[in-house]
Amino acid sequence: MLPPRDLLAFDRDHVWHPYASALSPAPTHLVQSASGARLRLRTADGDTREVIDGMASWWCAIHGYAVPELDAAAHAQLGRMAHVMFGGLTHEPAITLADKLIRLAPDDDLQHVFFADSGSVAVEVALKMAWQAHAAAGLPRSKVFTIRGGYHGDTMAPMSVTDPVNGMHRLFRGVLPEQVFAPQPPGGLDADIAQWEQQTRALYADHAADVAAVIVEPVLQGAGGMWIYPPQVVRVLAALARDSGALLIFDEIATGFGRTGTLWAADRCEVVPDILCVGKALTGGYLTLSAVLCTTDVAETVSAEPAGALMHGPTFMANPLACAIASASLDLLGDDLLDRVNSVGSVLDSSLADARDIAGVADVRTIGAVGVIQLDAPRDLAPAAATALDHGVWLRPFRNLIYAMPPYVCTAEETAQIGAAMVAAAQAVAP
Ligand SMILES: *Cc1c(COP(=O)(O)O)cnc(C)c1O
Repeated sequence: MLPPRDLLAFDRDHVWHPYASALSPAPTHLVQSASGARLRLRTADGDTREVIDGMASWWCAIHGYAVPELDAAAHAQLGRMAHVMFGGLTHEPAITLADKLIRLAPDDDLQHVFFADSGSVAVEVALKMAWQAHAAAGLPRSKVFTIRGGYHGDTMAPMSVTDPVNGMHRLFRGVLPEQVFAPQPPGGLDADIAQWEQQTRALYADHAADVAAVIVEPVLQGAGGMWIYPPQVVRVLAALARDSGALLIFDEIATGFGRTGTLWAADRCEVVPDILCVGKALTGGYLTLSAVLCTTDVAETVSAEPAGALMHGPTFMANPLACAIASASLDLLGDDLLDRVNSVGSVLDSSLADARDIAGVADVRTIGAVGVIQLDAPRDLAPAAATALDHGVWLRPFRNLIYAMPPYVCTAEETAQIGAAMVAAAQAVAP
């Protein structure tokens, strides 16, 4: 194996990273191993350094790393089969996982499960379900209605419903389908939405007959801006969808499995989607897997003639290894899930309180096991990430947001250290 310095040089010259330049990429850190809430990094000099992962690997690793139960599930499944095609064949890991997902789902009506490879593909499938459902009913509709500030993935259809500014729609003008965007709702769970509602109802009325689906991340918009908004907004959107015959899609890829302090963000909204997307934490961060659940009604409509089938079928659909690990991960959620999520949240809440007084900080907010420091304007946040690392914490701030979504297994001390690192990071970039 090449020494760390050479590995990093090769990485810089040849390996593309997320949202990165091939010519002048930002420096990367070499991760050697990880366990619990900690990553072991190798510096270019070959030194080892242990840091707490405040990101849970982009919100997936909710149980931390090298989790004995998940490792065991992986080893056991590897001994049987790592993969087999899902066309015409089936297997116990997929069946068991589907059963668990249906039981966990926010409503008993969500009885059909489609497994896909990633969050973006789950959103593609959800949108195809909606388009196919209208086409099968003999009344095709073309548009998707959503709110600004969302993030639904990086493939084409999900990009089209991602915020047009943050999502860089100008780079894809002419190729992305054009969707209908309501204003971003006001921030905070209890915000007054009267004005937003008036504007949104008017906009919806202009498009109602052509809206196939309404898609939202309920209550918390993730990568679009870590924005917490009122459940009442979701109720208004649900009513608009229902009254116009559009399908309601909840993208709980980021918010599912307890992240916002309830098992589903949908639980705060008291509305049930027709279609639900889950991903990210589904396998506890071990492998890429997502699922789309839908109601019997949607499944029956999509399966009606002339199509007679949902027209999607990924090569790695329902990968047995991923399904076996996901099953074990769901078992680990346990009866005390929300207690653990909310204890992480309350430590974040108290340790971020000081950040309000830092110059350039516009807002500090938390929900469930999510903590956010929002700056008053976008900055170069490389110094913020470097400062957090000096405080022993891995963060990946973006735009004007220094945030954490820690693994639920973080102790109070580890969570406090994440909070302190976020505060120090905000100080490091104060104007
Ligand atoms: C991350 C994310 C996606 C995309 O998932 P990928 O696995 O990265 O394709 C979609 N929707 C939401 C809400 C997400 O947070």
